[in-house]
Formats: sequence, structure tokens, C-alpha cells
Amino acid sequence: MARRLAPWFAVRQRDLPWRRERTPYRIWLAEILLQQTRSAQAAGYYERFLERFPTVQELAGAPRQEVLRAWEGLGYYARARQLHAAARLIVARHAGEIPATLAGLRALPGIGPYTAAAIGSLAFGLPAAVVDGNVVRVLARLFCLTALPETAADRRRYQDLAQDLLPRREPGRHNEALMELGATVCTPRNPRCPVCPLRAACGAYARQATADFPRRRRRPVVPHMEVGAALVVDSRGRLLIAQRAEQDLLGGMWEFPGGKQEPGETMAACIRRELLEELGIEIEAGPVFCHVDHAFTHFTMRLHAHWARRVRGRPRMLDCAGFAWVPRKRLVDYPMGKADAVIRAQLAPLTPWPPAWEGLS
Ligand code: SF4
Repeated sequence: MARRLAPWFAVRQRDLPWRRERTPYRIWLAEILLQQTRSAQAAGYYERFLERFPTVQELAGAPRQEVLRAWEGLGYYARARQLHAAARLIVARHAGEIPATLAGLRALPGIGPYTAAAIGSLAFGLPAAVVDGNVVRVLARLFCLTALPETAADRRRYQDLAQDLLPRREPGRHNEALMELGATVCTPRNPRCPVCPLRAACGAYARQATADFPRRRRRPVVPHMEVGAALVVDSRGRLLIAQRAEQDLLGGMWEFPGGKQEPGETMAACIRRELLEELGIEIEAGPVFCHVDHAFTHFTMRLHAHWARRVRGRPRMLDCAGFAWVPRKRLVDYPMGKADAVIRAQLAPLTPWPPAWEGLS
């Protein structure tokens, strides 16, 4: 298998930015980016991130807000926070060198067994097999396995199989080749078997039953939420924004304050309640500015952004990690999740500014 895969990969691999110049730092960054992001989207972020933070030392020395700002739009912001924390650990405890053992890698924030195997094999030639969704699909079809790696026993089975198939020479390249085959040839639908270097050994291909392996995952029903956000503008035209608590979804990112609508609550009442709970201020909720629909992995939401003005109280950090009154032009300095970034973009060209409350409809 390795003998057939290696020459195919040498010729057919995609030209991706993280394949051009390999250093442990670059490999680590690429693996963290690719944890929950497709290659095409990750490529642009990878290049911009490296331009801004070319070394682990520069990443470690940067303020966290800047790291989150560079990550903005990618989602799963815990990755950026952990990357930053790991860079600081690498500089403080490993003299700026990425650890070259699986145990050393696993001890860093944000690195689980899969990422440790990927970095270890690619950067240091460690004999550790990588099993991602692409590899599972290729192995399931080669060996006619219907089970998905949903139980500990099945995960072990795929891991052992991949480990048995790992060649001693260039294990990282082999891992990468197998993932590449799954991403570009052995695709979930309509795999391109006639051009596959492994077809002679493939059980599913021999049976002409590629769609049966592995069995399809049932899509779970995704819940939906209606969420309110307040655009509180002060007399100087500054907007009130809040920073999400570390442990929350989008932890560390900034947002227009608000939250989830409760059953039977109007959107204006929801926004009033949320600002009282989060920042301790009483507001008057005005007309709608815009709606933003956004899908997370586990739920969808419609965000209703309403104009608002402060009636009583000064903001306090009751249920948030921070708050700031920010001139509209400076909002871009604050990392925001996708939905809030859409609102920010729609606010940018608005004239006159600040908007006249009575003139809003
Ligand atoms: S022959 Fe087809 S099903 Fe088998 S590994 Fe290759 S692409 Fe996948």
C-alpha cells in the first residue's frame, strides 16, 4: 500500500501553502488550523497568520487580542487561545523549540492524540499513524468495514489498522498521502476509483459497493435559537461592546451585548433583560437595525440587532469578561464572531453617525 501511495502522492498532491516550507512551527500551525477548517479556507489564514507571527517567539509575545483578531472568521476560537498559550509555554519551558516527542506535544494546550501524531510524524518522523475522517473512509472501503469510529473499540480498530499499515520510512508523508487520497480521490460521494492507486487492493471497489462503506452517519436535528443584540450608542457615537467569558462559546471574542430569547419574551424584553444581567444597565430597546442568520455546528441562530440607548446605570462586568465603549471606526480592532462581524460591517458605511433615534425605523 505504501509503495503504491508514495509515487501517487509525489505527483498528485495539491499545492498547499503548508507543504511549501516545512518547519515544526509551520507544521504545528497548519495542523491546528486544519482541525476544524477546510484546506481552501485555512490556506489564506495560514499565510496571513505567518506574516503576522513568523516565529513561535513572535506569537508568544503578541497580546491575545491580536491573535484572536488574526483568527477572526474561522470559528472554534479555543484553537487560537490554546495556540497562543502553547506558544508561551514553548518559549518559557522549551527554549522556543517545539517538543519532538508525542508526550511532549500532548502536554501542550490544544494538542490531542490526533494532532500530536500529525505533528510528530510530519515534523520529526515519529512512527505515529494519523486517523482523521478521510483516513477512516479510505480504510473502511479498503477493508469493507461498515462501522464508524463512534465507540472506543471501533476507534481503536481503525487506529490499529492505520498503525499496522504505517511504513517505517517517512511515516509523516504516508499519513499525509492517505489523507490526501481521502480528500481528493476517495471522496464521500462518487469516489474516483479508476484513478485510485489502491484500487487493486480495495474490497469495496472489488464488490462495486463503495457507497456501503463506511455506513452513513445520520444527521442529527439541529436546534434553532433566536438571539437579540443591542447596538447601544452613546452621545459621542461610541458603541458598547462586551467580551465573552472564556468558558463560553466564542470565548474571548467581542460582541454587541445580548443573548438568547426566552419562550414568550419579546425581542425588546430579551435585550433589556440580557443587558441588565450581563452589564447591569437598564436600556430602552429601539427599532431593528438588521438580522443575521448564522449556523454553528450544533445549532443555528437568527441574530436580531436592535438600536438601544442606556437609560440607567454604568456598565459592570456581571456576566462577561470585559466591556468597552468603542468609536465605530475602531470596532475592527476587536475580534468578533462571524455574526457580529456582519453587523459591524453593516454599521461601517451608515450616515449620519451617530444615528438619530427618532429617525430610525
Ligand atoms: S478504489 Fe475507490 S473506494 Fe477504494 S480506496 Fe480507491 S477511491 Fe476509495
